[in-house]
Amino acid sequence: MKRELTCIVCPIGCSLTAEIENGKVVSVTGNTCPKGKAYAESECVNPMRVVTTTVKTVNGEPVPVKTDRAIPKDKVFEAMKLINKVRIQLPISVGDVIIEDVFGSNIVAVKNVGGENIE
Ligand code: SF4
Repeated sequence: MKRELTCIVCPIGCSLTAEIENGKVVSVTGNTCPKGKAYAESECVNPMRVVTTTVKTVNGEPVPVKTDRAIPKDKVFEAMKLINKVRIQLPISVGDVIIEDVFGSNIVAVKNVGGENIE
């Protein structure tokens, strides 16, 4: 079986073709660097995604956050449900852990919000 993919590792967006046999990727073509091959292998067998979203503060202000590493794609919806339940207090600094261990990743703030000398 062949699967056509667009590599999302960098902005070039190479068109990849992965050949899959017995649930395993046996060849990848179209990539112009090794990262594309690794991406295609992961995407076909165990797709992963970094999640970017916001959490609300207790007064309703949104704070941008993301997973600090990719999580399984099929867990993104469950992760979003957990993230949407959270209400946090300000101030928040870049890198603060908002929720620990969400499918192997921490949810971290990506912007300073509230407090002195920060937005
Ligand atoms: S294969 Fe390499 S060069 Fe092409 S989009 Fe992926 S990371 Fe970028």
